[in-house]
Amino acid sequence: MSRDRKPVLIIGAGVVGLTLAHGLQKLGIPFQIYERDDHISSRGQGWAITLHWALPFLKEMLSEEAFRDVESVQVDPEADRQGLGKFIFINLETLEPKFLIPPGDRRRVNREKMRNVLLNRVSDKVHWSKRLASIKDKGDDGVVAIFEDGTRAEGSIIVGIEGSNSRTRKFLAPDSYKNIPLPIRFTGAAVDLTPEQVKPLKDIDPLLFQGCHPVTGAFFWFSMLETPQVNGTAGTDRERYRVQILISWPVKSPDDEVKANDAERLANMKTRAADFHPILRDTVYLIPDGTEVIEVVLQDWPCLPWDNHNGKVTLAGDAAHAMTMYRGEAANHGILDAYRLHKVLEAVYIQGKDPREAIDEYEAEVRERTSTAVLLSRQACLDAHDFAGLNENSAVLKRRAIAGV
Ligand SMILES: Cc1cc2nc3c(=O)[nH]c(=O)nc-3n(C[C@H](O)[C@H](O)[C@H](O)COP(=O)(O)OP(=O)(O)OC[C@H]3O[C@@H](n4cnc5c(N)ncnc54)[C@H](O)[C@@H]3O)c2cc1C
Repeated sequence: MSRDRKPVLIIGAGVVGLTLAHGLQKLGIPFQIYERDDHISSRGQGWAITLHWALPFLKEMLSEEAFRDVESVQVDPEADRQGLGKFIFINLETLEPKFLIPPGDRRRVNREKMRNVLLNRVSDKVHWSKRLASIKDKGDDGVVAIFEDGTRAEGSIIVGIEGSNSRTRKFLAPDSYKNIPLPIRFTGAAVDLTPEQVKPLKDIDPLLFQGCHPVTGAFFWFSMLETPQVNGTAGTDRERYRVQILISWPVKSPDDEVKANDAERLANMKTRAADFHPILRDTVYLIPDGTEVIEVVLQDWPCLPWDNHNGKVTLAGDAAHAMTMYRGEAANHGILDAYRLHKVLEAVYIQGKDPREAIDEYEAEVRERTSTAVLLSRQACLDAHDFAGLNENSAVLKRRAIAGV
């Protein structure tokens, strides 16, 4: 181990930052994590994500126990185990499947619970309420992260993994850091359903399904968040499923912009669902008044070039390549980034490799892999709102091929 090297400073305790932390911990590489929130659960329960082609990389970075912890936060372990989810894309008017993709090995997990279990074994390294404000390059002396509360931290390398509105990205690419907005709007809500209410949806797919309305181009997304087995209501008279209902639509006029408050957003979702098949329409109508309706801002950033300050500052996860979720692979790419990065940091910290060479190598692979992925996800987002134009070559369905794995 190169004794004089300062720690790796990870900015952001999201799924990717925490995964990298596990990889570094396994290798004995010093690191610290800085997170803007004051607590892991500050932002509510979030959504579910499917871990598919990145699973082998995740497995290698995590201890056996930590990987088991991740498996323990599957939204429906039974459905995953039996390979029941099919990734199905339907006609929202008729429920007829337009496409079916057979499942591979995957785990559909609750993102916030995954962050919670990943935190377990690295929590002593996380500094809360530390929002990165700026970065100072100290030449041969390393690099300094400066936080909004005026405190500072010194390290050998800063890895900005603070999501799609990354400050680190702004520091590295001041002229080109801005996300590119897409002409689609997206809102969603989590709702509790009884077994009877959820049955027709589970009959379509127990984990998630998507679809487009052939006339309006509206897109609908159903995602299981918790089964009664998972939330402890199984067998009681309060048995319930928690599901997420999301709707997106193209912006054609100012009226299509997302409204300011929950009540108006919910009313808009119900209006857009009015001509869905009754099963889907009634599900949207079941969302009670007063429910929080979140907006997911659709924008991306295709991993443009940045100056890594001689290998002292880099990016990973959504900070490096913001992409829309229509191909469901942003977190998978982020996990692969963490894997590649922990390998090159092993070469730097343990074998004494030149950090500039190592980080250049890491970034070249990330950029080649994800600049295409971002554009495919952008295309998928647009395709998903054009039912007639969808075919087996559409980006929303195209095999999630990743080069260089
Ligand atoms: C509805 C939806 C469904 C999705 N489904 C899938 C899926 O099925 N499969 C898939 O692979 N991906 C999916 N994704 C994408 C996936 O959720 C993201 O790619 C992933 O969460 C990104 O992780 P991250 O760690 O890079 O960033 P984030 O999860 O955004 O974490 C960033 C962290 O940095 C912190 N932070 C921000 N700014 C600062 C700052 N200045 N200083 C310090 N800390 C800061 C934040 O508080 C946060 O904790 C989905 C996304 C959405 C919205």
